[in-house]
Amino acid sequence: MKKTELASEVVSRLRKKYPSAECALRYEGDPFRLLVMGRLSAQCTDARVNIVCPALFAAYPDAYAMAEADPADVGRYIFSCGLYNSKARDLVGMSQRIVSVYGGKVPDTMEDLLTLPGVGRKIANLILGDIYDKPAIVADTHCIRISARLGLVGDGKPLSPEKTERELSGIVEPREQADLCHRLVMFGREVCSARSPRCDSCILSDICKNRLDTEQSK
Ligand code: SF4
Repeated sequence: MKKTELASEVVSRLRKKYPSAECALRYEGDPFRLLVMGRLSAQCTDARVNIVCPALFAAYPDAYAMAEADPADVGRYIFSCGLYNSKARDLVGMSQRIVSVYGGKVPDTMEDLLTLPGVGRKIANLILGDIYDKPAIVADTHCIRISARLGLVGDGKPLSPEKTERELSGIVEPREQADLCHRLVMFGREVCSARSPRCDSCILSDICKNRLDTEQSK
């Protein structure tokens, strides 16, 4: 099966399994909140980010408020997310730039998003896909692991985030990209986990390179 065909089949099956492809971060449709939560989620669980953010956003509801904040005070709200000093500095820094350069609005291009402190391609793609409805591959740990196992990218071994993003962008239909990444997160938590994938009950087992290679080598 060609990779484009495989990608289309994976998209179709995961869409049926997970009709609702929602972001695990509860950002309530607010671009600034998603940006902040995306930064906080580095080396932290989405569940933890969802717990700490209501108090953080009650204190600093938008980029204007956060731009005026003392990073030490922001750090007190996000302490349990880990790396809180650098995350607090980035939240204040990105807010200042959003206010001073972008008129308080989260930018809508990869190029501009990457100029914000603490924002890399993963967060930028999250914003482009979820907020601005643009084609975007969020190459997080689930996306990288599962796309390699399925044989969608590379030769079965996980690739770097950049290579995973590039290869998936070339084979997944643009309008499906952002939703596919959310579905891969759900699928990775429920079925294709890092340590113990449940291949015997997996809806992709008949088209999964990892599974087929394992069967062949028996
Ligand atoms: S068959 Fe196994 S390795 Fe392949 S996608 Fe399913 S759970 Fe993951």
